[in-house]
Amino acid sequence: MTEEYRSDFRREGPRRVGQVKEVTSLANPIVKDIKALSDKKTREETGTFMAEGLKLVIDALELGWKIRTLVYAKAAKGKPLVEQVATKTVANGGLVLEVSEKVLSSITRRDNPQMVVGIFESRWTRLSDIRPENGQTFVALDRVRDPGNLGTIIRTADAAGASGVILVGECTDPFSLETVRATMGSIFATPLIRASVEEFLSWQKHAGAEIVATHLAGSVDYRTVDYSKKPVVILMGNEQSGLPENLAKSATRLVRIPQQGLADSLNLAVATAVMLFEARRHLLKI
Ligand code: SAM
Repeated sequence: MTEEYRSDFRREGPRRVGQVKEVTSLANPIVKDIKALSDKKTREETGTFMAEGLKLVIDALELGWKIRTLVYAKAAKGKPLVEQVATKTVANGGLVLEVSEKVLSSITRRDNPQMVVGIFESRWTRLSDIRPENGQTFVALDRVRDPGNLGTIIRTADAAGASGVILVGECTDPFSLETVRATMGSIFATPLIRASVEEFLSWQKHAGAEIVATHLAGSVDYRTVDYSKKPVVILMGNEQSGLPENLAKSATRLVRIPQQGLADSLNLAVATAVMLFEARRHLLKI
């Protein structure tokens, strides 16, 4: 929180909550604070992130996500759905900002911004709370670096009915604007878990799940595994270096997706999609 906002908050603080505030200046301290959410450190310190689009905001509210601030373009004023989310935001003690398109473009860093943006409290599920059950599939990602890949994987995990995405080691932030955009709303429907390698290794020993690691040197064709006998954790390697030995060794299966052509590997998100839908096929017995 900027010093400016802090003093502004001290001055106006409680009166601001639950009110609709018109903002046209890029220098407005609240706008500055929202823009600062492009920085990971600020997202972590405030425990919040930004999601764009009316549909996403509606879905998030329906799923019980806590909204701190709703921002909408002046042009969206009076639209019934926008009014509804604004009312909900106020009822939940949040702040509603009606802003100029210039402010919205600056917040979202886009020339043609969405009409509605929500600032939500981030949510993590603890690894110790994950007790895989039969029929469940999780994805574990080792040091995923690319925000687009992570967003696409979260979206795919949601679409394939997976029960969560576990981020192992130093991963890109799922709550960055780029990742949230790529999830197309699935960020709100997919439990996210983070763990160090050590935490993941000790958890998986007692998880009672089949740990199916994907590796270019895997000796098993991924189609020969039965994904329906036990809960499954599909373990995927880093984009550049693949899975390190300690993670690969800990898996109960090391599988490969057979390829042809020149490329030596598939894109991480594509390989994850192939695995997830294969597991789903087994679970649905099709
Ligand atoms: N140079 C890396 C390597 O040597 O592993 C390539 C990593 S690949 C871009 C990212 C991850 O996607 C891999 O670690 C693996 O988990 C998965 N992957 C990609 N293609 C695969 C394939 N054909 N079989 C199994 N896993 C694959």
